[in-house]
Amino acid sequence: MDSGDTAIFEPENWRLTDKQIELATVARKLGQEKFAQRAFEYDREATFPTENYQDLATSGLLGICVPERFGGAGADYQTYMLTAAEIGRYCGATALTFNMHVSSCLWTGFLADGLEMDDSQRKEHEAYRKHHYARIVEEGAIYAQPFSEGGAAAAGFKAFGTTAVRSDGGWIVNGKKIFASLSGHADYYGVLCTELEHSDEKPSRRNTMYIAIPNTAEGVSVVGDWDPLGMRGTVSRTLIFNDVFVPYQEQLMPRGIYYSAAQNWPHMFMTLTPSYMGIAQAAYDFTVRYLRGEIEGMPPVKRRMYPTKQLAAAQMRIMLEQTKAIWFQAISEARPGPDKASVMRAWAAQYTVMENANEISRLAIRTCGGQSMLRTLPLERLYRDSRCGSLMLPWTAELCMDKLGREALYEEGETDDEDAA
Ligand SMILES: Cc1cc2nc3c(=O)[nH]c(=O)nc-3n(C[C@H](O)[C@H](O)[C@H](O)COP(=O)(O)OP(=O)(O)OC[C@H]3O[C@@H](n4cnc5c(N)ncnc54)[C@H](O)[C@@H]3O)c2cc1C
Repeated sequence: MDSGDTAIFEPENWRLTDKQIELATVARKLGQEKFAQRAFEYDREATFPTENYQDLATSGLLGICVPERFGGAGADYQTYMLTAAEIGRYCGATALTFNMHVSSCLWTGFLADGLEMDDSQRKEHEAYRKHHYARIVEEGAIYAQPFSEGGAAAAGFKAFGTTAVRSDGGWIVNGKKIFASLSGHADYYGVLCTELEHSDEKPSRRNTMYIAIPNTAEGVSVVGDWDPLGMRGTVSRTLIFNDVFVPYQEQLMPRGIYYSAAQNWPHMFMTLTPSYMGIAQAAYDFTVRYLRGEIEGMPPVKRRMYPTKQLAAAQMRIMLEQTKAIWFQAISEARPGPDKASVMRAWAAQYTVMENANEISRLAIRTCGGQSMLRTLPLERLYRDSRCGSLMLPWTAELCMDKLGREALYEEGETDDEDAA
């Protein structure tokens, strides 16, 4: 896309902090000047955006959520989300994989700092995260976040089938993760698995462990091909762990803390949305430029004078404003122990961003017309990438609807058993 984009969230109107303005500007500049041009090839070839990651490292964004005292940029949740949305605008796959990497710092940093831990857990956590942050800040290490297994575990209903059996000085990990974005490209896989004392113990969600497994560890392999509809640059192939030994110091969070985070910090599951917030903005921006005859490399034909185009532009703008408003509000409320209204708004925001990004892209293609969906232009990629948003567990569009419907009609502890009797 051509240069000259202004911020998705204008700093003054949305009352952004200096740090938010600074980091979002760095991301927007990188996106405009570098990522936008490279996105076509990553998508066509379904290859990992390695060059973009070199730029993210050089600009300091790899350590965006590493606390300042560990050498990072010290971004909080909202600052990360606003920055990542600017990346998603230019390359959805880079923003989505960037989320997997950043979550390893956000969850262990800003989020963990707000969780209850006793002194010994806090001390343990401090030692572990120092070790991970040094790799990221000093060595440019990239972390992935492979949770999904193809069953109910990633949706939060069951214990993870990937197991970590205690052994001398560490665990023996076995299991399979599907849709493991950055597979073969991350230096470490931040894996959620179930700790077991011995291999025939019954798995429990309370014993979920979050541990980093080096991609070079013996027994780690990446299998299968990757030729999906959208988000092709994420290279989300299947990861296999076969008797992988992982030392205890590779924990990303002490025992029990991931479970506590998932219960008490629900907004942690919204971090997949910025990629799609950026895509929604990009589809709108493209449409405005196209109808004004301002797309680089296209004949300068104006189409803005047709009332139907104006109506569609209005419809897209309304949808974009609605999406931005609920998303910004929801990410502003993120905190430990939010009340019911806040959690319901987070689900509604997640649903809105994921579904509206695709709807805005759909309207963009219909409105701009036939030539706009040629593969030489970004619009058809935005359309395909945006379709993937609603599928992301644990907060898929369907599960957000399930939870919202249930919470709207039931208060805590209520059942219909009496009515049935
Ligand atoms: C581009 C892309 C990148 C991804 N990257 C990663 C990654 O890096 N790490 C990672 O861990 N995952 C990743 N995922 C996986 C993603 O989060 C989901 O786990 C995956 O899309 C689920 O696919 P599935 O076929 O297993 O769907 P299913 O689990 O079968 O779900 C299908 C639908 O059924 C519904 N559903 C599922 N379980 C239940 C239930 N128990 N009750 C009611 N409804 C339910 C959900 O709404 C869901 O949409 C990625 C996915 C995509 C598309």
